Amino acid sequence: MLIDTHAHLDFPRFNKDRQQVLDRAREAGLKQIINIGADEESSARSVELAKKVDMIYATVGIHPHNSKDMTEDTYSRLKDWTEQEKVVAVGETGLDYHYDNSPRQIQRAVFRKHIQLAKEVELPLVIHSREAEQQTMQILKEEAAAEVGGVIHCFGGDLEMAQQAIELDFYLAVGGVLTFANAYQLRRVIKQISLDRVLIETDAPYLTPEPYRGKRNEPAYVKEVALKLSEILPYSFEEVARITTENAQQLFGIS
Ligand SMILES: [Zn+2]
Ligand SMILES: [Zn+2]
Repeated sequence: MLIDTHAHLDFPRFNKDRQQVLDRAREAGLKQIINIGADEESSARSVELAKKVDMIYATVGIHPHNSKDMTEDTYSRLKDWTEQEKVVAVGETGLDYHYDNSPRQIQRAVFRKHIQLAKEVELPLVIHSREAEQQTMQILKEEAAAEVGGVIHCFGGDLEMAQQAIELDFYLAVGGVLTFANAYQLRRVIKQISLDRVLIETDAPYLTPEPYRGKRNEPAYVKEVALKLSEILPYSFEEVARITTENAQQLFGIS
């Protein structure tokens, strides 16, 4: 049994074959998929998808790319959605200083709002952090995000950031990047932390793992991430699957 802890199956790129994508996920041994809200529309679609599909759970949030669109109205809609039974986290939220699609000051303010919301409704956080590691950790500390914990998705930081995140009761999620030939640093970091703090994800439709790189990503391919973990760690594939599934169920409060 496997769980894809980060997918965007509500995106239009899955409109033509969403059902087949879900069938292939089940065939690959997936038990649950966490579908991630990235703006107001995709949060709404995630909530709908979770209502319709048994294996799907939803998160609601505004990606740092879109944080410039966040209003007070957005905040109250996000809050309303968190009351739904299958909404299991707040996010993705965080900082993306690689693309800078929203001004950094706004990204930081909206990130703080998400942490406050997560604490208010007592749900964990799904964090996106790219080229902003230090400020991400600083804001998580200042806002006392350890009260709710969460996951740093698509983890790309160094060992120090990994340890800081774990101290704040966060998990680290790895995806397709782990399988890339040049991802030495990530594999080195993952070898030095406990598998009890690791989740697996796809970020579908993005970041497709080897040997499917170049194609659209989908939840079934999370199996390749688990296989790569079993290759680099002293655990069998079955152990990796079991432990990362338990971690995800624990974090998101699902079973
Ligand atoms: Zn992301
Ligand atoms: Zn994402």
